[in-house]
Amino acid sequence: MSSDKKFGVALVGLGYYSTHQLAHALLQTEHCYLAGVVTGSPKKIPVWKEKYSIPENNIYNYNNFDEIISNPTIDIVYIVLPNHLHAAYTIRGFEAGKHVICEKPMALSVAECDAMIAASEKADKNLSVGYRLHFDPYNREMIRFAKEKVYGQIKSIDTAFCITPQKGEWRLDKNFAGGGPLMDVGIYCLQAVCYVTGQNPVAVTAQSFPASDKEKFKDIEETITWQMEMPGGLVASCRTSYSEQTGYIKIIAENGWFELNPAFNYDGLKINTSEGRSFNIRAFSQQVKQLDGIALSVKNNQQSSVPGTMGRRDMKIIAAVYEAMQTVKRIEIKY
Ligand code: NAD
Repeated sequence: MSSDKKFGVALVGLGYYSTHQLAHALLQTEHCYLAGVVTGSPKKIPVWKEKYSIPENNIYNYNNFDEIISNPTIDIVYIVLPNHLHAAYTIRGFEAGKHVICEKPMALSVAECDAMIAASEKADKNLSVGYRLHFDPYNREMIRFAKEKVYGQIKSIDTAFCITPQKGEWRLDKNFAGGGPLMDVGIYCLQAVCYVTGQNPVAVTAQSFPASDKEKFKDIEETITWQMEMPGGLVASCRTSYSEQTGYIKIIAENGWFELNPAFNYDGLKINTSEGRSFNIRAFSQQVKQLDGIALSVKNNQQSSVPGTMGRRDMKIIAAVYEAMQTVKRIEIKY
């Protein structure tokens, strides 16, 4: 393989995230580019063909997707479909001999994650989860503060991510989303606690509350708070909701505190500290860094820094949080 090879990426599903973030990022990436698309909406094709110079034979639909196996210009398929389709399309991607990036949450259950990981091992191809914040300099700076104990030992963590989806969105339907805000955005809180501390929770407790809109939240939680007990006794307090807008992580340490607020957006992130310092880091695109980072791991034949096993770990934590919410018990997690 030539050292300057750019990997061809096919986006599977041309909804909001593909259209407004990933396609644009793939115009700026160094190690990969937008080579193809998979869509069930023929009316979208002319726009994508023209805007991204995609050749006719690199355009697929959900029925002929598997024919991608005989297309050598596509190396990586990126699954950007509603959550209930992640496992099936990831497995089809591996069966077609491609590397796969799958959006978060990785799947609807740990069992689906296991099947996806098994398919990746069988195909001997790379499986990554679309965890863009591992490539974000602000979140990485929070990791450095914790790791280098800039403010001493961490004593407690408080984090929340809440958004307000509109009626009719698949996010509000458990069959599509697998759950409520915990699956969609709460996952960023549990991710952040794990990457900032470098640890996985040993147990969780959780609480849910009566919904303000019984129709909108008929089969998913509207708001959930949960606590993650980390090895060594640190407790992280987490909250997610579909009825407000916020996103932050605050870390209290022995000698001060540091926070990222907003923490999980695409841009405009800001670090504040107990000394009254606040700083912004230079402009960048998280998705460009993420796509290039994953493409480089493929090129170097290394496991990605956001592997399927991490997505599986997070599904384990999510399942434990839901169990804790339903049983009102402390649930220990065995990975
Ligand atoms: P979206 O609804 O805008 O797009 C989904 C696409 O899937 C649409 O084009 C739709 O036509 C297509 N689709 C194909 N089969 C479908 C079916 N059976 N039912 C419904 N839609 C179907 O959603 P989105 O916001 O782009 O989210 C897609 C995925 O990306 C989700 O898993 C979401 O969690 C993830 N996401 C990640 C980020 C991030 O920052 N990493 C941001 C947004 C979304």
